[in-house]
Amino acid sequence: MQQVLTTCPYCGSGCTLYLEVEDNTIVRVKPNSVNSVNEGALCSKGHFGMDFVHSKDRLTSPLIRKNGELTKASWEEAYNYIASRLLQYAGEFGGKSIAGFSSARCTNEENYLMQKMMRAVLGSNSVDHCARL
Ligand code: SF4
Repeated sequence: MQQVLTTCPYCGSGCTLYLEVEDNTIVRVKPNSVNSVNEGALCSKGHFGMDFVHSKDRLTSPLIRKNGELTKASWEEAYNYIASRLLQYAGEFGGKSIAGFSSARCTNEENYLMQKMMRAVLGSNSVDHCARL
């Protein structure tokens, strides 16, 4: 069995853990006891929530709705579509018509860029985050 040291993907706390991997499949999660953030502990999400990695329902490519059907797209096509629609709505209805929601799974730097894009590019101060309690 191979042990892979990694960072928990569920929130920005930065707990580290070992994935025990056999035949390219995660079979167990063990906390990293020497990390100064979690010191050998993990919450239930970090400890027991890694099944999604092997889920057959996991999305593996972006989807764009075309003629009412979700259709697989390349990342470049998806980003171009998102950018063109956001700029279209900001131009037609103003930046205040758009809100941005970010994620606790992103890094602080990614969340910073998200709010910067919303404010400086699209002209909207409507920015929120799923971890705001
Ligand atoms: S183990 Fe829990 S607290 Fe630690 S990073 Fe993962 S979700 Fe956050």
